[in-house]
Amino acid sequence: MTRLRAGAATDVGLVRATNQDQLLIATRLFAVADGMGGHAAGEVASQVAVEALGQAFDKIDVVTPQGLQEAARQANRAVWDKAQADPDLRGMGTTLVAMALVDEDGADEDKVAVINVGDSRAYRLHQGRLEQLTVDHSLVQELVAEGRLEEEEAAYHPQRHVLTRALGVDPDVMVDVLGVTPEAGDRFLLCTDGLVREIGDDQVASVLRRLDDPGDAARELVDQAKEHGGNDNITVVVVDVAADSDTTVPVDGFAATTVGHGAGDGDEEGAEKGEEAAAAPRSRRFRSRRGRFASRPRARFVTLRVVVFFVVLLVVLAVAAFGVVWYARDSYFVGLSGSRVTIFQGRPGGVLWFKPTVAQTTPLTTAQVLPYHLSALRAGQEEPSLSAARGYVQRLQSEYSQASGQ
Ligand code: MG
Repeated sequence: MTRLRAGAATDVGLVRATNQDQLLIATRLFAVADGMGGHAAGEVASQVAVEALGQAFDKIDVVTPQGLQEAARQANRAVWDKAQADPDLRGMGTTLVAMALVDEDGADEDKVAVINVGDSRAYRLHQGRLEQLTVDHSLVQELVAEGRLEEEEAAYHPQRHVLTRALGVDPDVMVDVLGVTPEAGDRFLLCTDGLVREIGDDQVASVLRRLDDPGDAARELVDQAKEHGGNDNITVVVVDVAADSDTTVPVDGFAATTVGHGAGDGDEEGAEKGEEAAAAPRSRRFRSRRGRFASRPRARFVTLRVVVFFVVLLVVLAVAAFGVVWYARDSYFVGLSGSRVTIFQGRPGGVLWFKPTVAQTTPLTTAQVLPYHLSALRAGQEEPSLSAARGYVQRLQSEYSQASGQ
């Protein structure tokens, strides 16, 4: 029977006002959720999701990967139902990544099943190497998969917050599931995007290799994410697969878990440590953690809005620029170049940086134009087209000819 040991930490970060992340640690179920939605909706979404996941998981007799997947679908439904019942919560959603020990086909060895929706991630440190188990359901991930964006660019992409799948925004959701055969010494990591947007995989791996205690590793990861900006809520769960020789952990259970502390809740930490350590085997109790403030969701939706805003703005500017060019160039006038009557394209005096250009020089000079036309020529006699301008020149010419009797 596989033995697990877990530790966790969550933090509001340095920028957000509230922590909308949640985490769940139970006997053999672990999860992280990152809520989204205005005001308090984000924290409601992630809270409801992990609670519903835990409750659905508790009711499963023989836990299979599909069972975990179904529990996630029920969590989706719970968030959706909650949102439909309260107009203030409409549109809320959450990511969810969870791992559980499952019994697969009556095999002796436990398996680990991992499910995910959204961009919270699961990793495994296996023989010292960190591998990402989940694939983000995000716009930038799709662009990377299509070869339209480099992995390195994804972290800085303006639409990096946009999710293509989230829990609770539709009555049904597609939940990705995968199975892993755990080996003693493996270390699993569940985290929200607030971790991996701040520090790279190498740095994450380095911490996971260096610190033995899962709680210490979780707290160190959160601290490093804060040192690198802490732009988002950060939540980390570290789950170790105990070595067979490790007698400090109970069989089929969970030795000790720590729930890390967010801003201002250090007073709860000690109590939680002891409480979780005493969790009865197979009790499958779950602990969710309610964040206390606001915002990643807002960041995501606002980002999308901002993108739409800039696209609209660009279109408006392009139309305006085209209008200016059209106004500046789509006209002719007859004026003077020195004493020469000349046809110009453009507007007399120019428009912005569009100066009139010579379209045609005529043989006429001011000496061959009746004097009362001269002020119009000096100001520029506007004509709608080149042929109209030529017609005007011809009239000047014929009037002069008639008046001079030529
Ligand atoms: Mg986040």
